[in-house]
Amino acid sequence: MVGAMVNRDGNGWTTCSRGHRHWGRFGAAGLLACAPDEGRACVLLQRRSWWGNHGGAWGPPGGARDSHESAVTAALREAEEECAMPPDAVSVLGILLDDHGGWSYQTVIASAPRPFAVRPASSETSQAAWVAAHDVPALDLHPGFAETWPLLRETLQPLTVIVDAANVMGSRPDGWWRDRAGAARRLRDQLTGLAADGIPSLPDSMDAPALERWFPDIVLVVEGAARSVAAAHAAGPPGHGRSGAPGGEPGSGDGRVRVVAAPGSGDDTIAAVAGELEGRRLVVTADRQLRERCVAAGASVTGPHWLLGQL
Ligand SMILES: [Zn+2]
Repeated sequence: MVGAMVNRDGNGWTTCSRGHRHWGRFGAAGLLACAPDEGRACVLLQRRSWWGNHGGAWGPPGGARDSHESAVTAALREAEEECAMPPDAVSVLGILLDDHGGWSYQTVIASAPRPFAVRPASSETSQAAWVAAHDVPALDLHPGFAETWPLLRETLQPLTVIVDAANVMGSRPDGWWRDRAGAARRLRDQLTGLAADGIPSLPDSMDAPALERWFPDIVLVVEGAARSVAAAHAAGPPGHGRSGAPGGEPGSGDGRVRVVAAPGSGDDTIAAVAGELEGRRLVVTADRQLRERCVAAGASVTGPHWLLGQL
C-alpha cells in the first residue's frame, strides 16, 4: 500500500519557546472522541504503557503530526493505530489549539452516535476505554490533557447552524429576486464549502469555548419558490458520510448540510428545528420576531452579516 510507505517525518523531540521538550517535530495531535452511553457522555481514552513518556497516564489517543498531515488526519490515524478505532467511526466537531510557540498540540474533538469497540492496538497503549466524562478527573491524567479537560468538556456537544435562507438571500443583492431557486442553490453550495472548511469563530452571542475551528452541521431552511433545492439536494451525490472524504478530512461538507423545505411558513419550520435539535444551535436570521422564538426555544441567534462574512 502506498499509504503505508509514507515517511513518518514527525517523529522526534523538539523544544517549544517556553523551554519544554515535546514529542513531535511538527507538533502533535490527538483525538477526543465522545459518544452517549445510556444517557451519559463518554470519551475514548487510552492509558499509556509504563515504559513511555508519562507512563501509566490516561489521555486521548494522539502523537506526532507528520509534515504532510493536517491535525484531523494525524488524530484519526493515531486513534486507529493506538485504539483500533474503525474508519469513518466519528464526525469531527472542532479543533482546540494549544500553542506553545514553536510547538503546538491540536485536540480534534469528534463524536460518534454510540461507543464503538476499542482495544489497545499499539505497544504504547496499555488500555483503551470509554470513560464517562464525569469520571475523567478521577483518573491519573496526562498533564497536558488534565489542563485542557475543563475546556474540552464544554465542547462535547454538536453545533448546528440553522440558516433562514429567505432572510440571508434577501440581505445580499445578487439578483436573487429573478431566480430564487438559483440563489438558494448558490447559498447551499457556499454552505457546503463552509461545512468542509470549518468556522474559525462563533458570534459573541454564543456562549462557547474558543476553538481554532468548529465543524458544524448546517440546516438550510427554504420556502416558496426556493423549495425545489431541497428535493435536488436530497438526490445529490452519494457516498459522503458525516465523517467525510477518504483521507480523514472533515469532508466535502455534503453530508453536513441538510436542506429542509418548509411546508408552510419558513419561520415556523425554523423555530421547530431550533427547538427539536440537541446541542448548540445557532439560528441565522435578522427577523426580530423569529429571533425571539428561537431564543425561547434555547437557541442562539445571529444576523446574516455574520454568516456572509464566513463565506
Ligand atoms: Zn511547551
